[in-house]
Amino acid sequence: AEGQIRQMQKMEAVGQLTGGIAHDFNNMLAVVIGGLNLVQRRLAKGDTDVHKFIAGAMEGANRAAALTQRLLAFSRQQPLSPQALNANQMVSDMSDLLRRTLGEVIEMETVLAGGLWRTHADPGQLENAIVNLAVNARDAMPEGGHLTIETANCHLDDAYADEHDVPAGQYVMVAVTDTGIGMPPEVVAKAFDPFFTTKGVGKGTGLGLSQVFGFVRQSGGHVKIYSEPGQGTTIKIYLPRFYGPAESFQRPVKQSLPRGS
Ligand code: ADP
Repeated sequence: AEGQIRQMQKMEAVGQLTGGIAHDFNNMLAVVIGGLNLVQRRLAKGDTDVHKFIAGAMEGANRAAALTQRLLAFSRQQPLSPQALNANQMVSDMSDLLRRTLGEVIEMETVLAGGLWRTHADPGQLENAIVNLAVNARDAMPEGGHLTIETANCHLDDAYADEHDVPAGQYVMVAVTDTGIGMPPEVVAKAFDPFFTTKGVGKGTGLGLSQVFGFVRQSGGHVKIYSEPGQGTTIKIYLPRFYGPAESFQRPVKQSLPRGS
């Protein structure tokens, strides 16, 4: 039951640490890129070898800058703007985007529950979470396969709640299932860890699932992985049912907060 709390603390610690490092690193990279730019401009035209080396160094520095940008975005304490929302509506609205993300070799199916309860969450973050799950599913099915997005009204009972450190009660479930490579138990155990990736250098950042985890926990929800190597993976997101009056979802409170650097 302590697992998810420890996971959250780990994420906060890593987030703070990387935020600080990424910020400083970005400034240092600006110096490197600026210097390379100068050298490039002053360099005699004929010296093609040196031009090539400089171009290579620039490319590396620009990749590093792009990564630090992603790290900054990850560590930034993004204020959530939760509002009552209909997950069915969201999944339907996203279906074009998802189909494009998945490409032609993957079939997509949605199974949307009738009479789905509303939930209370930040819509942008939920959308982002679903995209992250779809991208992982795509990566797990390089030769093609089947992706299913399912919604359901769910009751998490006391036994489940105790075991998984989540309040018992009513939740809206959004499940993403793929028929891909699956994960062995040791990968499942680490999948939510920030920077854990099996995709290799330059391919994965290991931030997708930890972002999903952070968002779901901050929304008072729960997320669980079911996976079988060679069979596929299901990731279930549970978000709390929203009981409030209808008006609060027609007039969401928009916050405009200053963005830190
Ligand atoms: P990244 O996608 O950058 O590697 P994530 O945090 O999104 O980072 O995922 C962490 C790891 O979890 C992946 O590298 C992969 O090993 C595993 N994983 C996540 N989703 C799936 C999936 N649908 N099928 C198989 N493995 C997955």
